[in-house]
Amino acid sequence: MEANNFIEEIINTELGEGVCEGVHTRFPPEPNGYLHIGHAKSLCLNFGTAKKYDGLCNLFFDDTNPSKEKTEYVEAIKADIEWLGFKWHEVHYASDFFDEIYERAVKLIKDGKAFVCDLKADEISAMRGTLTEPGKESPYRNRSIEENLKLFTEMKDGKYADGEKVLRAKIDMSSPNINMRDPVIYRVLRAHHHRTGDKWCIYPMYDFAHPLCDSMQGVTHSLCTLEFEDHRPLYNWVVENTGVAHKPRQIEFARLNITNTVMSKRYLKKLVEDGAVRGWDDPRMPTLTGLRSRGVPAEALKNFCEAIGIAKANSEIEITYFEHFIRDYLNAHAERAMAVFEPLKVTISNFPDGNEMEEFDVNPNDETAGKRQISMSKHIYIEQEDFALVPPPKYFRLKKDGYVRLKNAYIIRCDDVILNEDGSVKELICSYVPESRSGNDTSGIKVKGVIHWVNADDAVDCEIRKYDYLLKDAEYSGQDFSERMNYDSVHVYNGKAEPYLSSVQEGTSFQLLRKGYYKKVTEGDKLVLSEIVSLKDGYKPNK
Ligand code: ATP
Ligand code: MG
Repeated sequence: MEANNFIEEIINTELGEGVCEGVHTRFPPEPNGYLHIGHAKSLCLNFGTAKKYDGLCNLFFDDTNPSKEKTEYVEAIKADIEWLGFKWHEVHYASDFFDEIYERAVKLIKDGKAFVCDLKADEISAMRGTLTEPGKESPYRNRSIEENLKLFTEMKDGKYADGEKVLRAKIDMSSPNINMRDPVIYRVLRAHHHRTGDKWCIYPMYDFAHPLCDSMQGVTHSLCTLEFEDHRPLYNWVVENTGVAHKPRQIEFARLNITNTVMSKRYLKKLVEDGAVRGWDDPRMPTLTGLRSRGVPAEALKNFCEAIGIAKANSEIEITYFEHFIRDYLNAHAERAMAVFEPLKVTISNFPDGNEMEEFDVNPNDETAGKRQISMSKHIYIEQEDFALVPPPKYFRLKKDGYVRLKNAYIIRCDDVILNEDGSVKELICSYVPESRSGNDTSGIKVKGVIHWVNADDAVDCEIRKYDYLLKDAEYSGQDFSERMNYDSVHVYNGKAEPYLSSVQEGTSFQLLRKGYYKKVTEGDKLVLSEIVSLKDGYKPNK
C-alpha cells in the first residue's frame, strides 16, 4: 500500500515487520462542546486511515472531566460525524472503563508504582521543578503499599474533600520530561457525571485514562495532536506498567489552524454564551454544525482535509484555500438561479405584453442538468450596480445608449434614464433586440457585457445575507480573540428573486449568477438567501 503521509509510512513498516497486524484507530472528542473544522481533520485522518487499511475506527468519548461535559454535546458530536458520512465501529466512553481504570491504579499501588499524596495542587506544581531544574520528591512518596491502598480506597469512598488527596504515579522527579515527574493520575472531585451520575468522587486524569482506554478498545494507533508529544513517554509508561495485554502506540500530527478562524472550543463557547453569534450552529461559526447550516457540503470539507494532508509541524492554512474547495464542489453540483440584490426597475418599451418563456441553463458544468423555463416580460429588475450614469472606461455593463445582454434572454439597449429628485437613478427605459434571443442570435450586434435580471411580473421579495469572517485578519493574531472580533460580519440586502427559488426545497444550494453560492432558508413567510461562499476565488495556487 502506498503511504500518503508519515503515519501511513509508520503503519506500513509495522505491518511489514509484523509489529502490528491491522489498524484500529479512534476519534476521541471530549464532549464539552461542538466539533469544529480542526476536528474534521482528525476525523478524516482516523476514519480514513482505518478505511485504507481495512481496519476499524471507534468513536471514543473522553469524558474524564465531568464538570464540563454534557449529553447534548455527545448527541451533537454523533450527528456531526454522521453528516460527514463516517461510520464508527463501536462507541465507547472513558466512563465505561472507570472500574477497570481504577483496578489498574490499584495494581500500580500494589507494585509500588503509585502513591497517595497529600500535597495541595499548588504545592505539587511548585515542587515540580523546571526544564532546567529537577523536581523535589513529595514527603508522602514513601508511604507503604498498605497505607496507599487504604488511603486510595478511602479516596474512592468519599472520605476526603476535593483536592485533599491525589494519587500519583511514582516515576522520576528528576526526569528531563516534566510529565514524568510523579504525575497525578487520580483526583478527588465531587461532580455529577453525565453518565455515571454520582457513583464516583474520584476521576482518573487524561494521561492515565487515555492509554488504558485505547488498550481496552484494541486501538493500535492512537493519533493525537502535537501538544501531546511530551506526554508520549507517560503514555508508554502507563501501557508498560499497568499490565495491559494490548499495547497501543501514540503518534502525533499537526493541528489544523486556519486564518481568520479560531478553533478552541473554549472560545467558541464564549461566543455562544456572550450572544455574539446565534448559537453553535450560526453560519459564521467554524463548527461542523455551523458549516452545515451555512450550506458547506460535507464532501467539500473532506476534500479540503485530504488536500492539506498530514504533517509533523504546525502551520496555518489560508481560509481562502478552504473556500476554494467549497466553490469547487458547488460549481460542479449546484443549480444556477438569478436574484437581484439592489433592484433597479427596467421597462422594455418594445417588448410584447404578457410573459414570454426563456430557456435557462440549470448548470452549464453539468451536461445532464438540462434547462428550465424562466419568464420574461416588459418589466424586469437588474442590479443598480449594473448600470452607470457616468461609466468609467471599459465599462461593459449598461449605460445610456449602450447595449448589454440579459443572461439567457435578449440584448437590450438603454434609451432613457428616469432620475429621482436627488439625481439618483429611478428607472431605465430600454428596448430589446428581437433577433438577439440567446441560442438563436441573428442580430449581429456584439456586446461584451452579460448581466442577470429577474422578471418584475413574478419576482419574489427576498432577504439576502452575506457574511464576513467572525475574526479579523492575521495582523491581529497574538492579540486576545475578543480584540480580533469582527462585529460587522452580517450584511443584509433586500432583493428580488425568480419565483423558482421560493418553490424549491428548503436548504437547497444555488449559484446565484454573478453573485455567489447561496442556500435557501425560509423564516416565517420570508425567503432568505444565505451566502455560502462568494464567487471570487481568493486562493492563489502558486503563492
Ligand atoms: P479544543 O482545543 O478545540 O477544545 P481539543 O483538542 O481539546 O480541542 P478534543 O475534543 O479533545 O478537542 O479533540 C478530539 C480530537 O480532535 C483530538 O484527537 C484532537 O487532537 C483533535 N483535534 C482537535 N482540534 C484539532 C485541530 N485544530 N486540528 C487537528 N485535530 C484536532
Ligand atoms: Mg481536549
